[in-house]
Amino acid sequence: MDVGPYLPLIAALIALLAGLAIGKAWERYKLRDGRWIDRRKARDSQHYVLGLNFLVSNQIDLAIEELSRAARVDTDALEIHMILGNVYRERGQVSRAIQVHQALLQRPKLTRLEHSYVLLCLGLDYKRGGFVDRSLEAFKEVLRLSPNNHYALLYLQKLHEEQHQWAEAYRIRRQLVDLSGPDTQPRNQAILAFLENALGADALKDNRRADAARHFEAAVHLDSSTTPAYLNLGDVRLLDGDGAGAREAWEQLIEVSPERVHLALERLERLFDQQGVPERFAERCRRFIASRPQDWRARLALGGHLSRSGQPRAALDFLLDALEQNPHGLTVHQAVWTVLLQLDLDRALVQRYIESARDAVFFLDPHVCLKCHYRSTELLWQCPHCHEWNSFVEERMAAARQSFAEL
Ligand SMILES: [Zn+2]
Repeated sequence: MDVGPYLPLIAALIALLAGLAIGKAWERYKLRDGRWIDRRKARDSQHYVLGLNFLVSNQIDLAIEELSRAARVDTDALEIHMILGNVYRERGQVSRAIQVHQALLQRPKLTRLEHSYVLLCLGLDYKRGGFVDRSLEAFKEVLRLSPNNHYALLYLQKLHEEQHQWAEAYRIRRQLVDLSGPDTQPRNQAILAFLENALGADALKDNRRADAARHFEAAVHLDSSTTPAYLNLGDVRLLDGDGAGAREAWEQLIEVSPERVHLALERLERLFDQQGVPERFAERCRRFIASRPQDWRARLALGGHLSRSGQPRAALDFLLDALEQNPHGLTVHQAVWTVLLQLDLDRALVQRYIESARDAVFFLDPHVCLKCHYRSTELLWQCPHCHEWNSFVEERMAAARQSFAEL
């Protein structure tokens, strides 16, 4: 999967922000020293302005050239060197970035703010280079200098998430929640809920079931739309022999996120089979289909169920309906062929299928991350690329016939 053109730009903007913040602090410092004329020389040089412009337009090589010239005009200009280092990092020249930022740390008379921003840059260099421990250390050092540094907290949280250290990530997220205003509450609650769910999954792996259940319950309490927490909660309850409790959790999932119904249906089918009442599964699917006529997943689940319980004719009806709702779904086509084989490839039925599928266009990876556009064949709860929680949606295409009609 290609990283896409967005990351360097975003990083450059962050570098800019950090640079401007440092610029403010540095201005005071220089004024104290009475050397502000030198500083103006660097800031007023066209190289500095050109460099920043190249940076935001993502012309990295030109940016490096101009910023290097600006840095030569005033070798003291901390912000310019800091941005240069960041640009090296984003270009993949990590050791060079580390060199530049470490050299800045050696400067005498750094203010606390300057010190913490240079450390922040260094932490990002280490992170980019894969030196996780050094990166952690740098971000923690930033927090010792300025305990409420939002960036340091955010990067620390991400680092812990990447290491699957959910408890630490959770603690830091809480800190960020306390620091931010009430307007960010819903988003924060959702992230905390996913971290609770991850903690529960870890507990379940260690077979600490009571702990696990507590985390899953906390997750849905924090944010009632935390879909995987309902799944997991049901799984734990079933492991503890509580079939009714499991069913309750999965029914709640269907209620809060009906578009993910198939996840609950897979489990309900197994549960009803175990309990020797498979007909209740078919009944549940029919009830859902009646309430959401556009849904194809429940039809696919029901079709599969009917086909496995020796009712291929009834199965085919639901599957062809599903196909009409989602002509691009390869799983639906596969299920149809299974059923057609069960029916000895009855010519009339095969004909019916071919007509339903005529205008379908196939695609393989229908799940897409809303934040970074990463594509995935399966539904993921955390994006492996940008690490955002719950950012995947399923891409739906209009039937080919429909889009031709619109042209
Ligand atoms: Zn993403």
